[in-house]
Amino acid sequence: MTDDAPARVIAIDGPAGSGKSTLAQAVADRLGLECLDTGAMYRAVAFAVLRAGGDPSDGDFAAAVARTIDVSVDGGEVLVDGVDATVEIRAPSVDRAVSLVAANPAVRSELVALQREWVRRRGGGVVEGRDIGTVVFPDAEVKVHLVADAAVRAQRRVDQTGTAPTGGGPRGRTYDQEVETVAEDIARRDRIDSTRRASPLLKAPGAVVIDTTELTFEETVELVMGLL
Ligand code: C5P
Repeated sequence: MTDDAPARVIAIDGPAGSGKSTLAQAVADRLGLECLDTGAMYRAVAFAVLRAGGDPSDGDFAAAVARTIDVSVDGGEVLVDGVDATVEIRAPSVDRAVSLVAANPAVRSELVALQREWVRRRGGGVVEGRDIGTVVFPDAEVKVHLVADAAVRAQRRVDQTGTAPTGGGPRGRTYDQEVETVAEDIARRDRIDSTRRASPLLKAPGAVVIDTTELTFEETVELVMGLL
């Protein structure tokens, strides 16, 4: 892209389990753009903090890790210091740590710079997270604030992955127990992500709220495409 060509950016924000990643991928495919899962970047930093034996709530430690590690997110593959960590960043330990690390303003400013650079290099993209419409790309062409009932989000997450993000998966556990465990993780992250001082999850000015509780995936994709 030339420096003066405007980047085409679609911002999709919403709480854990609202379906942002699958929606972002589908919209990106339709538009011939790439999509960026910014949550994967925060997970990569949380993973690196844990790997280094750090405490996720130690702000100075997490900030130092964020400044020194090399995080690359490309086509769903996440590299941390050149090593594939795509699976590891979804571990239960990372689920528990990530919102603490993401509440750190120094970590956020490092990652926001990376996210803007990612889009600049590609001339646009579908970017999903918590603060994309409010902070990272406030001038995005379309801003979507995706919501769904907490119980539905937990069910969808279990149906999609077959494992709970905390507690170790389905071995010997009923479906209802899995959903309950996922619901607890989602509720805890929602609370931290929405109440933190640095870039809390909020509806961005100009964002269109889409409640997917009663919508099929295809209906949601069509609604977003209709906004373009
Ligand atoms: O999207 P996902 O649920 O994988 O994100 C993991 C965590 O990363 C969130 O719970 C939140 O704490 C953090 N996050 C964030 N800002 C973003 C994306 C994710 O704070 N833009």
